[in-house]
Amino acid sequence: MKPTKPRERRFSGHPVSPGIAIGPMHEATEASLVISTEKPAPSELPAELARLEEAVARSRHQLQKLKSRLTALPKDSQAEIAPLLDAHLHMLGPSRLLRGIKARIQDGGHGAEAAAHEEAEAQAALIMAQTGGDKAGRQRRAEEVREVARRLIRNLTRQSFRSFEQLPQGSILAAQDLRPAEAALIHPTRFAGIVTAEGGLDGHTAVMLRALGLPAVLGVSGLLDKAITGSLVIVDGDSGDVVLNPSKTSLEAARKKHSAQTRARRALTRLQNLPAQTRCGAQIELQANLELPFELTMIAESGARGIGLLRSEFMFMNRETAPDEDHQARIYQDIIEAMDGEPVTIRLLDWGSDKEIEALSRYLPDSPEANPAMGLRGIRLLLQHEALLETQLAAILRAAAAGPVRIMVPMVSVAKEITETREAMRRVWRRLKRRKSITLPEKMPPLGIMVETPAAALAAPLLASHAEFFAIGTNDLTMYTLAADRASPGAVKLYDPLEPAVLRLIHLTTSFAAATGVPVSICGELASRPAATPLLLGLGIRQLSMHGNAVPRVKQAIRATSLTTCEQIANAALAAPDAEAVRAILAQAQEN
Ligand code: PEP
Ligand code: MG
Repeated sequence: MKPTKPRERRFSGHPVSPGIAIGPMHEATEASLVISTEKPAPSELPAELARLEEAVARSRHQLQKLKSRLTALPKDSQAEIAPLLDAHLHMLGPSRLLRGIKARIQDGGHGAEAAAHEEAEAQAALIMAQTGGDKAGRQRRAEEVREVARRLIRNLTRQSFRSFEQLPQGSILAAQDLRPAEAALIHPTRFAGIVTAEGGLDGHTAVMLRALGLPAVLGVSGLLDKAITGSLVIVDGDSGDVVLNPSKTSLEAARKKHSAQTRARRALTRLQNLPAQTRCGAQIELQANLELPFELTMIAESGARGIGLLRSEFMFMNRETAPDEDHQARIYQDIIEAMDGEPVTIRLLDWGSDKEIEALSRYLPDSPEANPAMGLRGIRLLLQHEALLETQLAAILRAAAAGPVRIMVPMVSVAKEITETREAMRRVWRRLKRRKSITLPEKMPPLGIMVETPAAALAAPLLASHAEFFAIGTNDLTMYTLAADRASPGAVKLYDPLEPAVLRLIHLTTSFAAATGVPVSICGELASRPAATPLLLGLGIRQLSMHGNAVPRVKQAIRATSLTTCEQIANAALAAPDAEAVRAILAQAQEN
């Protein structure tokens, strides 16, 4: 009798990395960790500490090896993965985690494995208990602490790590769960796609898979129980659909989609050296946002002309004290030199509210604010801590001798915040001039502001007499205009930069800026959405700054439109009743 063909079954999960993958599914299984809770005799504790030291050394060695293998990955994957491995290496240095594990051995009399497990759990619980801000970020940090402990435990007990080597090339890698450091081990040409039973949209694993460019769907329940090794699977990283044992029709449709995507990708690569110019010949300036220095290579390859937003927060993270003037100046200078004459806009430290920086926690009020987003953050905090502000200004002014720089003030709501920052800048400039050994640029760099509060947008004509440029931060502008925190589940539906109220504030800012001759850009996430590009041009924007990855697609959208069409779209959007209607206008425009 002929064997019956297995029936097609459909599943769905979180679409974390776009693209279609078709192939046989192979599961990478993993033996669970065994942790002994038996306490050693007091005389054995020094030996436990020695075992821990040895496991730390092995773990560090493994991570260094992993780091050296990164060079084989695409540049933007390196940019995502390297900071994560660095964070793990940091935790395996003189960190709070290691101090805690040692204390549990020395004072608590635990064995090394149990000490590592319990300390990681305790620290993860503390991270999760912090209030306010970005829950997904806290979850990621807690998971990283656990991950470092798991590595230590495997090395302590010599339980083997999961390996993907034996899985056939071109297959769909399936797993119950995939950890970020494991994702870092995957070579993008080895597998066609990834599917897991656990995991979500916001985790580090998702970020890494996106950076690797591998189609991936995470959090697909039921699939692993129904599939057998080698079952044919379609993974749709755009929709989150996973089809097991696809029918002829499903397979045909997936193949068509796959080849269309390959063609589109090729076309994007060709765009890199073409000008960002509309059909009617208007030149648009495309710049990149830089969050971590590792992104520089990707930015250089993206076709972006300069950095429109350097979020300087990274320099203050993962360390116990704030970096000094020399340290900051060196980092700015490296970035400016790498941009080779293209402008670099450095934003002064934007900290407070959901942007937590451990090294600066002593500067924050003793009791947490009830409403931190409305409280001390950005320039409000910096103006209260003159030494921090002046150190950063001095470092930027020194580095500005290396190439064109602009300085940007975050979270401005009143003119005084700009004038006081300018006074501080002049003070620092005079002080540096007296230091003979220091080279300064010929002129002080332009000082501009983020327009990210409704007050700044509404008072743009007034602020224009104090600021040399405006950069609209649609992320915060949306939150403050709609009084909707994007991290708050209750308000998440309200948070939408396409709401006409937000668009009107953007339009107000560009109109005032045009009347006063102040250049204006957008550097919030909205700038990276190609569907919104014609709308933003129609609202008067001629400069956009975004994540480097987004530059080619936005350029494509610019080259496909003309200013007349953009203005029609903007007028319709400004008159629309809500974000839903604006989205419909944009969708319609894309079809035409
Ligand atoms: C913004 O608010 O739009 C912005 C670019 O700043 P950040 O996202 O860093 O707050
Ligand atoms: Mg902001």
